[in-house]
Amino acid sequence: MSAVEPENAFGDTQLLTRRILIGLAAGMLLGVAINQAGRDLAIAQFLVDDLFYVVGEIFLRSLKLLVVPLVLVSLACGTAALEDVTKLGRIGGKTLALYMLTTAIAISLAILAAVIVGPGVGFDLPTEAIGYAAKGTPGFAQILIEIFPDNPFEAMSEGRMLQVIVFSVLLGVAMTLSGESGRGLLNLFESANAVIMKLVFMLMQIAPIGIFCLIAKVFANEGVDAFENLFKYFILVLAVLMVHAFVTYPVLLMLFGRLRPIGFFKKLRAPMSVAFGTASSGATLPVTLRTTEQRLGVDPSIASFTVPLGATINMDGTAIMQGVATVFIAQAYGIDIGPAGYLTIVLTATLASVGTAGVPGVGTIMLAMVLRQMDLPVEGIGLILGVDRLLDMTRTAVNITGDAAVSCIVARSEGKLDLETFNGP
Ligand code: ASP
Repeated sequence: MSAVEPENAFGDTQLLTRRILIGLAAGMLLGVAINQAGRDLAIAQFLVDDLFYVVGEIFLRSLKLLVVPLVLVSLACGTAALEDVTKLGRIGGKTLALYMLTTAIAISLAILAAVIVGPGVGFDLPTEAIGYAAKGTPGFAQILIEIFPDNPFEAMSEGRMLQVIVFSVLLGVAMTLSGESGRGLLNLFESANAVIMKLVFMLMQIAPIGIFCLIAKVFANEGVDAFENLFKYFILVLAVLMVHAFVTYPVLLMLFGRLRPIGFFKKLRAPMSVAFGTASSGATLPVTLRTTEQRLGVDPSIASFTVPLGATINMDGTAIMQGVATVFIAQAYGIDIGPAGYLTIVLTATLASVGTAGVPGVGTIMLAMVLRQMDLPVEGIGLILGVDRLLDMTRTAVNITGDAAVSCIVARSEGKLDLETFNGP
């Protein structure tokens, strides 16, 4: 559907997905093997600390490199492509409402599961038992103000995605409203868009190796000891993440999008693997966007808006971790939160996940905001840090799945979903 892809790109994409999955599996196996053989061995240190680290970082940096230019041009072009600017408000409203809805469902599931299973029951911790200095979290007023850029170049160089999104949408609207005189700039942006998508395609060719290195490093470093005490918590978060990904999203796709979800996950395997490997929705954005447009058939005018916005504010997986973790910490300290408390968790964790940046580990920092709001010991975060990395990887894969699902639903409701591509092989 786009001029930037070679004709046999479809076959290539499938081959690439297979390679990425192989990289993922091989990375896990080798990582576990290194961990078991002895992380202190000289060869293990060379592999993990030098080779995997360097190659993995280069891959991550190359992905991140593309994020700002990609969002800027694709969103400006996408907005300009909406024939009618008033549509923007409607699409924006629907997207935001769906993002909030999916997040609220995610946290409710998490709380329900945590209350039933009771992962923290029996810890009997005295308050102030563990030393964990929580970093400061910004207040709501500041979060709101900081959505609006005062300097587009600063927003881009600092990678402030919401600000870049606001600027790009304004630029797109202005280009359309300028009519003929805006045409030159729009042509330039369209050409840049094609070139950047090509860059994403080129970068994806090294993704299997990049993911292999990132994953092997994580698994080599994570010992099994951390998991013993936290087994229940770990499995519970994983289980809720799975239910949300494989039950909630398909139901929503069927209910709101009248879409058959079969095939949806198959097409998302590449971005899900990249999300798992990088633990960053932001870094995965180029891959999510490409897949949503080219394999799920979402029109670029919708996807270029919904996907970057989702990668920035829609973090269902993060919300699930925050929900389970809050209940877990309350249980571990023997604090009763009560029904009103659960409602507060739903509200604050929704906001905390919105405020979570799409980079590794931030969801856990934002958890401090939820705990503070609930008057729970923030030090409790120290309890769950040991198993956070693996959960971070998994929740990031869920985060981007939510972005893609909502994009499909919004596109469908606007008549901008190519059903043939969505249902295609
Ligand atoms: N790593 C997550 C993401 O990028 C955010 C988090 O939960 O820490 O989506």
